[in-house]
Amino acid sequence: MSESVLVEQIYPRLPVFLQNAACWYYGKKEARVRCGKIFEQRLRELMNSEKWSAAEIESYQNEKLRFLIRHAYDSVPYYRERWKALKLSPEDIRNRGDLAKLPVLTKEDVRQNFSRLVSERVSRHELVRRHTSGTTGKALHFYVTNEAIAFQWAIWWRHRMRFGLEPGSWHANFTGKRVVPLDQSSPPYWRWNRPMCQALLTMHHLTPAKISSVMEFLNTNHFDFYSGYPSIIHMLALNAFEAGLTLDAPPRAVVTGAENMLDFQRRDIEKFTGAILTDQYGCSEGCGNASHCPQFVYHEDFEFGILEGAELSPNHPAKSILCTGFGCDAFPFIRYEVGDAGVWQQDGAACSCGRHSRAMTRIEGREDDYVVTPEGARIMRFDYIFKDALNVSEVQIVQEQMGEITARVVRRSSYGAKDEAEISREVQRWISPTIRVRFEYPGEIERGANGKFRAVVSRLKSSASTQASDHANH
Ligand SMILES: [Zn+2]
Repeated sequence: MSESVLVEQIYPRLPVFLQNAACWYYGKKEARVRCGKIFEQRLRELMNSEKWSAAEIESYQNEKLRFLIRHAYDSVPYYRERWKALKLSPEDIRNRGDLAKLPVLTKEDVRQNFSRLVSERVSRHELVRRHTSGTTGKALHFYVTNEAIAFQWAIWWRHRMRFGLEPGSWHANFTGKRVVPLDQSSPPYWRWNRPMCQALLTMHHLTPAKISSVMEFLNTNHFDFYSGYPSIIHMLALNAFEAGLTLDAPPRAVVTGAENMLDFQRRDIEKFTGAILTDQYGCSEGCGNASHCPQFVYHEDFEFGILEGAELSPNHPAKSILCTGFGCDAFPFIRYEVGDAGVWQQDGAACSCGRHSRAMTRIEGREDDYVVTPEGARIMRFDYIFKDALNVSEVQIVQEQMGEITARVVRRSSYGAKDEAEISREVQRWISPTIRVRFEYPGEIERGANGKFRAVVSRLKSSASTQASDHANH
């Protein structure tokens, strides 16, 4: 039986205790990779290198970079051919500054050269296939290894440890995964993943009708921290406010990632939890990461990869982020254009936290509107739906009125009626069982004034984000 049949058809029909057992089983499997020996070793190393001097960081990164470039040239056909055509050899790239000589790797390059980006040195059974759609809705496939996953989790835990948390701290994870079936209409609206020390709460159940059960759960279980997308935790805060409910057992910290934290979200979440909010920036491709320090500056996790800033337009303070990852030799990302932008601190500017790694003060480029469902949920991300939609070139979700959304799909030639039905089904599964989906098929999706793609556009008269800001002023 395939995993998707298990997840899509069997799991939602199981009684709650068996769903918890399934989460336990999955968590146990996850924990072997995410908290295993490699993770522990990496975390120890990271704690040790955290406050290295600028010179130590530079020499570490240059050495890692030379190794990566040599490895890619010798064993990854795509890089070898492309660099050879440009008459570049590994000797040309000696340090971080030399990276600018190499071409940028775009998402389209990865899509078109997927199999030629795999290292010939890595045995096939080590490869773990992953995919993401980012915010543009275009599916992107790549490989990672268990070792790379463990490294990334060590990076994420080092960030959390800066705020007094430790592996083993109990937390509530606010997720878009459908661990609680969408059509469930009575509590519990949560499941336990005990091997990973977490309770899972899904965004679809943080609605006005269910918020008092969710709050009771959070108040009777003392979680050390909350984690998840800012938009989901914000939804919790907003609906709790509106219902006049407060947290009796607030977490020590709220750890967010994967989305831009918008100012009104930060304000509302802080007001709701009274906890420290800390954010990290990363990408699912696992080729670069930056994490808040206690001064709330994003420090490049320099051991994990290099983040460069490439000019977007003259006088624009934010620069496009290019990632060169040290974590995964099996499918290297070198100067990979993630599609986000950051505002860098000047090189050499010391942070009062005592870290010397390069730093960004702000991340831009992931701001989007919300869609409001008839159930009252505010949905910012539609990635889940389009992960497997290979016949879709690009998609934008527009909401003009309550109860309905328009999917503006740029089709590939293979797109057909089957895809339309599949997208409608997925919206009903992931977003709302009652929302209507209309389709439009433009030739292309226009960009905003800043050249950025907006994945979600709300044209509701009183948009969710306006309501949120108004609320915070009261
Ligand atoms: Zn700092």
